[in-house]
Amino acid sequence: MRYLMAEMKSKRGHFDRARLPDPLTYYATELDHLRPQGHNAMARCPFHDDAHPSLTVNLATGAFRCHVPECGAHGRGVLDFHMALYGFGFIAAAKALGAWSTTS
Ligand SMILES: [Zn+2]
Repeated sequence: MRYLMAEMKSKRGHFDRARLPDPLTYYATELDHLRPQGHNAMARCPFHDDAHPSLTVNLATGAFRCHVPECGAHGRGVLDFHMALYGFGFIAAAKALGAWSTTS
């Protein structure tokens, strides 16, 4: 983790949380049949073979959780989701989401 923090501030760039896409825009792109319900939305979970909408996403924070115990996918935001869905590391996911800044 200490190494990661150093990497986040390296000359090659840094993570810029403000550039992350907003959760509604992101999840509407990544998930089929997203159904917003207030601050949350339900969708079919992409982390297991989901016949019903088992995934809840928080549209304010981007946090997500699958309610099927055998799956149990969860995370704190769209960056976590992108890492889990595509198997990216932190920096690769930040770059993919446009949240990696190479300017200071
Ligand atoms: Zn799941």
